[in-house]
Amino acid sequence: MEEEIFECQQCGYCCQGETTVSLTDDDLQRMVDYIGIPEKEVKEKYLRITGNVIQMKIVDGHCIFFDKGCTVHPGKPWRCSQWPLHPSILQDPNNFEAISTSCPGIKTSMGYEKFCDILSALIRAKEHK
Ligand code: SF4
Ligand code: SF4
Repeated sequence: MEEEIFECQQCGYCCQGETTVSLTDDDLQRMVDYIGIPEKEVKEKYLRITGNVIQMKIVDGHCIFFDKGCTVHPGKPWRCSQWPLHPSILQDPNNFEAISTSCPGIKTSMGYEKFCDILSALIRAKEHK
């Protein structure tokens, strides 16, 4: 069903910029498990820690884990997994507009209402997994 409204174009736009999403404690643990080295080393090599906020380092204008796609796919933060089918799209067409402008993988041709119908069903299906 997801492919009706989204197909990643591997453009990498969502992994570029001056900051990344922040990691929760669960994200950090998943990433450490996936990378398979001690947490201290993961933090030193890959993460940027500002007070309580943990983000991924930026290298050459993109997330340190980006290399023609995400290189830590199974270990990436949940906010990365959620993108671009964010529930906020359902609340406001402006969010749909903003997210579809940032992400060329979003299929806009069916229009906002139909898109929301499918996205709602997808979110419900994930909640009941
Ligand atoms: S911006 Fe969208 S299409 Fe591009 S890599 Fe990210 S999710 Fe895929
Ligand atoms: S963890 Fe992966 S998906 Fe998330 S910003 Fe970095 S490269 Fe992109």
